[in-house]
Amino acid sequence: MSPTYMTFEDLKKALEESGRGYNMENITAAYNLANEAHADQKRRSGEPYISHPLNVAKLLVELGMDSESVEAGLLHDVVEDTSVDLSTIESKFGPGVMRLVDGVTKLTKMQFSSVEEQRAESIRKMLLAMSQDVRVMIIKLCDRLHNMRTGDAWPEQKRRDKALETMEVYAPIAHRLGISNIKEELEDRSLQFLDPVGYAEIRSLLDQKNGEEFLKNISAVIQKHLEENGIHDAHMKSRVKSVYGIYRKTFVQNRSFDEIYDIYAVRIILDTVAECYNALGVIHDMFHPIPNRFKDYISTPKPNMYQSLHTTVIGHEGIPFEVQIRTKEMDQMAEYGVAAHWKYKEGIQGKNPLEERLAWVRQLLESQRDSADAGDLLRDIKSDLLPEEVFAFTPKGDVINLPAGASVIDFAYAIHSAVGNRMVGAKVNSHIVPIDHKVVTGEIIEILTGPADKGPSRDWLKLAATSQAKNKIRAWFKKERREENIQQGKEAFEREMRRNFINLPPEKLEGFVTELARRNRMNTPDEMYAAIGYGGLQMSRVSAKMKEEYAKLQAAEPKPVSIEEVPVKRHHSSEGVIVEGIDNCPVKFAKCCSPLPGDEIVGFITRGFGVSIHKRDCANVQASMKDPENAKRWVKASWEDSVQEQFNATLEITALNRDGLLGDITSAFSDMRVPIYAMNARQVENHKAVMNITFGTANTEHLNNVIARLRRIRDVISVTRS
Ligand code: MN
Repeated sequence: MSPTYMTFEDLKKALEESGRGYNMENITAAYNLANEAHADQKRRSGEPYISHPLNVAKLLVELGMDSESVEAGLLHDVVEDTSVDLSTIESKFGPGVMRLVDGVTKLTKMQFSSVEEQRAESIRKMLLAMSQDVRVMIIKLCDRLHNMRTGDAWPEQKRRDKALETMEVYAPIAHRLGISNIKEELEDRSLQFLDPVGYAEIRSLLDQKNGEEFLKNISAVIQKHLEENGIHDAHMKSRVKSVYGIYRKTFVQNRSFDEIYDIYAVRIILDTVAECYNALGVIHDMFHPIPNRFKDYISTPKPNMYQSLHTTVIGHEGIPFEVQIRTKEMDQMAEYGVAAHWKYKEGIQGKNPLEERLAWVRQLLESQRDSADAGDLLRDIKSDLLPEEVFAFTPKGDVINLPAGASVIDFAYAIHSAVGNRMVGAKVNSHIVPIDHKVVTGEIIEILTGPADKGPSRDWLKLAATSQAKNKIRAWFKKERREENIQQGKEAFEREMRRNFINLPPEKLEGFVTELARRNRMNTPDEMYAAIGYGGLQMSRVSAKMKEEYAKLQAAEPKPVSIEEVPVKRHHSSEGVIVEGIDNCPVKFAKCCSPLPGDEIVGFITRGFGVSIHKRDCANVQASMKDPENAKRWVKASWEDSVQEQFNATLEITALNRDGLLGDITSAFSDMRVPIYAMNARQVENHKAVMNITFGTANTEHLNNVIARLRRIRDVISVTRS
């Protein structure tokens, strides 16, 4: 295909034919400046360079864009490719045009050689965010479209790269802006470069049938019949499916060209639902319907609220075509979505503000195309399409997506916690910036790192905007406090040794401590000390094993000095509970209050099984003691000094529900090496989650440690014993 060699006269004609009041003086001046600046340049195809900006400008006129956009379209390559700078443009054409040219220049610098599916969406969002003024993106789309039209002159590799980028990034953006003709052409041109054979095959099948002509005739015939049946003012639209659309169906759904029934489609837009069903009857009388192709989305809308009647019929030439029948409201809904009914200026607070703003842009662009003035409607959306988010690059080209207001600290932690912890500074676009630098969309940010043990600074907690970064900084400091924990744990451990008269020479001490650590399921003595230090490992449990190990050591190596036996107080008890006046009495713990060592307790002599132990303040106790029949069966009870049994406790945790909440809670338990025996979580009103967790604990002191630890978890509202 030969590129159109376009002149300014052609553009002027297009401007006049649009019927809109364009600023011809400025547009002519823009053309003159661009023409002069590009004077020595030729495109790869050999044509003068100026034909490219002229074509871009013409596409903009066809889209109904304003004078500033057309001027910027003419000037869009001068800053990048010639000696003209932005200040010259600003002085001649004003800040509006300057910003548009600047925006397009910035987008042009963004090139993505390989766009993977998962990165594509953040790249698309980033480009939209970078555009700020949506006109920038529209100019860029027209630029890309003309480049793709003339891409035959590119070398093979560039054709493929541009085609992939266009397919993954720009065509979907055009789709979201509702510029379907540009979207389809971008896809078709890309396909042509990526699979020339497949493209040619479908193209020739399409060319064999004169689709446009066929649809034109069919539409006229349908409209005539509708009129005859009393259905007036039907608005007809029709389209031939794009080559890429057909390609997708043939290759993805493995169908042959003849099996695709919606290559040709006619849409009938009517006033009322009743008319829609009447029109359906008329269509089915006129043409032969294909079985199983009728769908009534009016009575049963699609989940996205799409409503329409669909049917496929065979035309008089034996060509099948799809007919869609819907009301004006349904058509608006299908084109712009629910969000489009809201006013942008009133502020959009829905779940997906970008989608809603885009829906609004779609509607605006559509009305702009039909409107008679070279309006500045689009200037209303001058400010960011995506003010809540910023997008920046790593030097390798990965896009990092952050909330607006995020600093380079957030950026570093978003790459990896190790990058954040080692950060000593940052460069933005190769310049050193202060550590509180706020990330701006489009920046290339390099994080400078120091030694692995460098660690964050506490001030960063104030400078970081994301909870992700804050959590990682806190986690580092928690780990850092490990030294303190080890210190404290070690002191407690040594105290316990002295209390038990355990005194070992240094050469034996190490093996002794290592063995004890192993028996407490810790990898190293420090790990054990740290666990003791923060309360994850109870000294009472360590103590029992400590005595056992010491006994083993003594037995293995008979000591010349005999150690005086420490008299041990014996209580007649079981389960670590002493019941006054009853020897060796079987006890059980009441389910209603699950007492723990440290709680004040009382016993109740049951008729069946020994003594039931309750918390002193258990509601059942209070009630039962008032009953004269029961009162005499209550006996005093207390805990034996060192209780080694594990007890079950149940806590009720209420928290704001979020991703990872359960994980944070269960990892708190595993950090403390507290076994979980049962767990039940449910979502309640106001996005809250309630969890009941039953776990093993040694006594109230330990339990209080667990509660304190759980309360520190982000979003936890309350932790109570249940
Ligand atoms: Mn260009």
